[in-house]
Amino acid sequence: MKDYEIVIIGAGPAGLQAGIHAGRRRHKVLIIGKPENSALYNAHIENYFGFPDKVDGKVLIEAGLTQIARFGVDLLREDVVKIETLDGGDFLVETEKGEKIKATVLILAMGVKKKKKLLKNEDQYVGKGISYCVDCDAWFYRGKEVAVIGDGSAAVHGAVSLTKFAKRVYLILLKDEPELERELQGVQVEILKTKPLEIIGEEEVKGLRLESGEELLLDGIFIELGAKGPLELLGPIGIELDPETLNYVKVDIKMRTNVPGVFACGDLTGPPLQLAKAVGEGCIAGLSASDYLKSRKG
Ligand SMILES: Cc1cc2nc3c(=O)[nH]c(=O)nc-3n(C[C@H](O)[C@H](O)[C@H](O)COP(=O)(O)OP(=O)(O)OC[C@H]3O[C@@H](n4cnc5c(N)ncnc54)[C@H](O)[C@@H]3O)c2cc1C
Repeated sequence: MKDYEIVIIGAGPAGLQAGIHAGRRRHKVLIIGKPENSALYNAHIENYFGFPDKVDGKVLIEAGLTQIARFGVDLLREDVVKIETLDGGDFLVETEKGEKIKATVLILAMGVKKKKKLLKNEDQYVGKGISYCVDCDAWFYRGKEVAVIGDGSAAVHGAVSLTKFAKRVYLILLKDEPELERELQGVQVEILKTKPLEIIGEEEVKGLRLESGEELLLDGIFIELGAKGPLELLGPIGIELDPETLNYVKVDIKMRTNVPGVFACGDLTGPPLQLAKAVGEGCIAGLSASDYLKSRKG
């Protein structure tokens, strides 16, 4: 298992800036994330200090990647699927390809997840049989019938995890995933390749209508569309959210969360969802993480 002093989750401007500051303090730093998935990547920026003419977000991201490399920061272009707390206060981070990394300090910089609405009446059933987090909610479906809808490793691994709880697990794959599907050989998951249309239900989810004309009788539906959003990832380590919106991570002026050794920055901590704020908070988070490490070493 690889071991880093600081692991930054998110390779957008907040995470990269945190990496630049932590790297310049000569810490052993890893950034995990896909730079091309940053909100900045396809944006054209006109209101960022020092760039009076329009600048492509992609250009800024590429420059940031060159900069982190110069300061010895490693980059792992994967999504994180799980974070755990270890005895002694360190953290274990697991990636979509199953890599496990130990971190003394975590900096969360995952931005905001634009939730794609997949099913016509999805909003009506959130928390009433619709879930976006297998790790959080699988337990409630012991002995029940469930479906996972999604793509990539998030959906496939979610379905596998659910087999430990549910009596029957369907996996509705939105894309062909031949390599991942091979992992399901011998696993009690029924793969369906059709489009999900509509939830059948009253107060709670009762089933799902499919384009094929079939209707599945279900107790729960898990929607797993790739990268985990912050809320799903952070529940298990007890990160407190902004009490008003429950959409953002609560931080203090040093970008500390309520969990010692965990810092957060950028869009993840709330509005204004702007590049200048993301970079400013990334700087503070990188330096605060460094100070925290120093204080732990005494
Ligand atoms: C179309 C558009 C136009 C914009 N225009 C402007 C503008 O003109 N001016 C301005 O100031 N701002 C603008 N913004 C906003 C700006 O891009 C964001 O405020 C900024 O990118 C936030 O940075 P961030 O690092 O917090 O998050 P992001 O840039 O979104 O980066 C988040 C990173 O976390 C990664 N991630 C997410 N989940 C996981 C996971 N589970 N595991 C690992 N990594 C994960 C993502 O892949 C990504 O690398 C615009 C945004 C958009 C979408």
